[in-house]
Amino acid sequence: MRYESTRGSQNRVTASEAVIRGIAEDKGLYVPERIPSPFIKPSLLTLFSEMTYPDLARKLLPALLTDLNANAIERCVKGAYESGKFSAPEIAPVRKAGDAFFLELYHGRTAAFKDMALSILPYLLREAVAMKGETARICILTATSGDTGKAALEGFADVPGTEICVFYPEQGVSEVQKRQMITQTGANTHVFGIRGNFDDAQTGVKKIFTDPAFAEELAGKGYKFSSANSINIGRLVPQVVYYVWAYVQLVKQGAIHAGDPVNFAVPTGNFGNILAGWYAKQLGLPVRKFICASNENKVLTDFLNTGVYDIAERPFHVTESPSMDILISSNLERLLYHLSGRDGAEIRRLMTALETEKRYEVPETIREGLADFAAGYAETDEAEAAIRRYWEEHAYLMDTHTAVAAAVYGAYRAETGDETPTVIVSTASPYKFAEAVSAAIGLPERENGFAALTALAEATRVPVPAGLVGLDRKDVRHPDVCDIGAMPDAVRGSLR
Ligand SMILES: *Cc1c(COP(=O)(O)O)cnc(C)c1O
Repeated sequence: MRYESTRGSQNRVTASEAVIRGIAEDKGLYVPERIPSPFIKPSLLTLFSEMTYPDLARKLLPALLTDLNANAIERCVKGAYESGKFSAPEIAPVRKAGDAFFLELYHGRTAAFKDMALSILPYLLREAVAMKGETARICILTATSGDTGKAALEGFADVPGTEICVFYPEQGVSEVQKRQMITQTGANTHVFGIRGNFDDAQTGVKKIFTDPAFAEELAGKGYKFSSANSINIGRLVPQVVYYVWAYVQLVKQGAIHAGDPVNFAVPTGNFGNILAGWYAKQLGLPVRKFICASNENKVLTDFLNTGVYDIAERPFHVTESPSMDILISSNLERLLYHLSGRDGAEIRRLMTALETEKRYEVPETIREGLADFAAGYAETDEAEAAIRRYWEEHAYLMDTHTAVAAAVYGAYRAETGDETPTVIVSTASPYKFAEAVSAAIGLPERENGFAALTALAEATRVPVPAGLVGLDRKDVRHPDVCDIGAMPDAVRGSLR
């Protein structure tokens, strides 16, 4: 099974080539040319429910990474999920609170769900590079809305043969998120704040990626670019595993029988997380609805409800769920490609319209496929109310992103009467957004994010992730801030 571009160029590549390249030459994203189905059957789900997370990954990853042999998969899974990088023995615990199940994806080193994939991506890349006999040093270029950056830095720090450059919106991340990035150690790590928002950072990175002159210049110095963003299939594929994992935990807990449908409510920004769930469904996982939850930046809610993607004159809101402050949602392109019947010309037309007219409308064929999704958005006060309610009624503490999904799910359930067991995908530790979470549960305001973190821990007794302890006392190693136009020079300066 090969990977092909969403924008119609004929060049098919193997999974490992797609991992190395990150993005296709025609600026499209790599997608599997066909999805091996039906792969997951009820009898298999019963079997899966007895497995550990690493074993489930061993089982599922080969379905989508077809050119990696069993030994390579073994090294990747072991390195990522069996070497102490996660603080929870289950890797991703599923906990029931109130009327929902929470899939906690934030027990990795950087306390956000990005760790689920970014703890394995460096291993996948290393295997791919070894297999291809690639001699260039790989430079990982990353735009981040707050969490990808740190998880990628942590994954790639001091990995031989790699350099990593991260760009984050200087005014658009939480205090804890920023501090996590600018204190990063590792001789191959480079971090820059930009004067712009996440969309600017992502557009800037994509531009560098697809600039042939720049690629040539870097090749002259012995470098090749790749990506740690969810445009890389090496990010998406490992995320498929935890949807199947969550499902089988519900089987194991006796909440459903193997084969019963479930819903997933997903706090969404770049559409990478929820898309991995959709792939799991294509592999045979019984899912009724994916509930796509947005904050005030509700371009996806509007799109899924109308078929029109429109960013013209849409304001960019800086919210308390900054990792979802995104208007150009990259991975949606992949879904549209599949739903169009793999019509690359059509997708190219839509993406060009988005660039030039800031808007596109999808044809009826694509709209029909969107029926797998429900969509809604929650404003800041609604998300805060969800945090408060789950804390007061169920002693369950969640972060501001998860709260958006919880609020949207609550509204969805009330509106539709859909009682299908639902998993809320929980994407970050509440301590990453300590100020907002503290305020939501009624604690007094503190002088900064770190004081809020300490107060939140004292008030709730919820354990603080190890990576966040003492963060405010670590040395700042990456103070640089640059304009959007200076991103290429920042990369040049990092790669001597
Ligand atoms: C990245 C992130 C999201 C959004 O995930 P996408 O894959 O971009 O949709 C949601 N919540 C948190 C905490 C994140 O870090």
